[in-house]
Amino acid sequence: MHCLNLKITYDCTNHCSFCFSNYMKDISISLKNLKNAVYQGSMNGCNELVLSGGEPTLYPEYIMELLSMANQLEYKKFIIQTNGSGLSNNKQLVSFLDEKAQNTEVCLSFSVHGHLPEIHDDLSGNHGAFDSLIRAMGNIAKTHCHIYTNTVINSKNSMYLKEIAKLLQQYNPEIMQFSIMHLKEKSLLSVSLTDSVNAIKELKGIVDLDVLKTEGVPYCLLYGMEQCVGESAWPSTLDLYNKENDYMKDFRQLDYGMRNKMENCDKCILDKICMGVWTEHFKEFSDMKIRPIG
Ligand code: SF4
Repeated sequence: MHCLNLKITYDCTNHCSFCFSNYMKDISISLKNLKNAVYQGSMNGCNELVLSGGEPTLYPEYIMELLSMANQLEYKKFIIQTNGSGLSNNKQLVSFLDEKAQNTEVCLSFSVHGHLPEIHDDLSGNHGAFDSLIRAMGNIAKTHCHIYTNTVINSKNSMYLKEIAKLLQQYNPEIMQFSIMHLKEKSLLSVSLTDSVNAIKELKGIVDLDVLKTEGVPYCLLYGMEQCVGESAWPSTLDLYNKENDYMKDFRQLDYGMRNKMENCDKCILDKICMGVWTEHFKEFSDMKIRPIG
């Protein structure tokens, strides 16, 4: 697949301290330019559209218009990354997505920070965020849409990944992703790469390995669970539309210094498909002295 990731807003109902787009909240993006980007994506060969943010459901009319337009172009799959706020009580948007999902693949990717309101609301900086998320997942579970989830591992939830998985299994997610947090500066929420990976490994036997996915963990750290490396399921090419008139074709995290690999990774049989670790974790990763696979 060739994917276009469209940021439709940087505004959000939540205030997660580890959100990478926190500092961009004042940037607004017009529907006209978003539509131009969808058109440009189609001309570039994109066939998958991701709507992200901020919180895209703050603009339900944008979602409906952009998906309707993309449906008439060559796009075959839609993913909306959401905290669920706009799907908990907007029946019109939920029925629109349900109708679309009857002839196109529509996936809702929910951000889940914890299995209890105390943890999820605290990390979201928004009292009531957990109730809203649960209502939204319940609404979407009754439609033809697919459910994905993403949990960023941090010091407040790393000991509860099993409980989070058990909560999410009620909604039958097709993908349950656990991501390594990447923050430029260490914070009270930071967890080491090793502790995060160990917490993920404990999910073996609890979550189907075809459903369990990771982000930020290379194959060599997931011995016996290699199919869980989420990056291997990513589209082969990614275009990004981050803000007005800023269309980036064929974006690669490795090229932009967001990721890093060891010098001897060129001896690994998985080198070509591996995206390494987030740069913030590179020192810890290289200190592990991992030998290339193969
Ligand atoms: S390419 Fe490097 S980082 Fe990736 S799996 Fe192989 S040894 Fe690990």
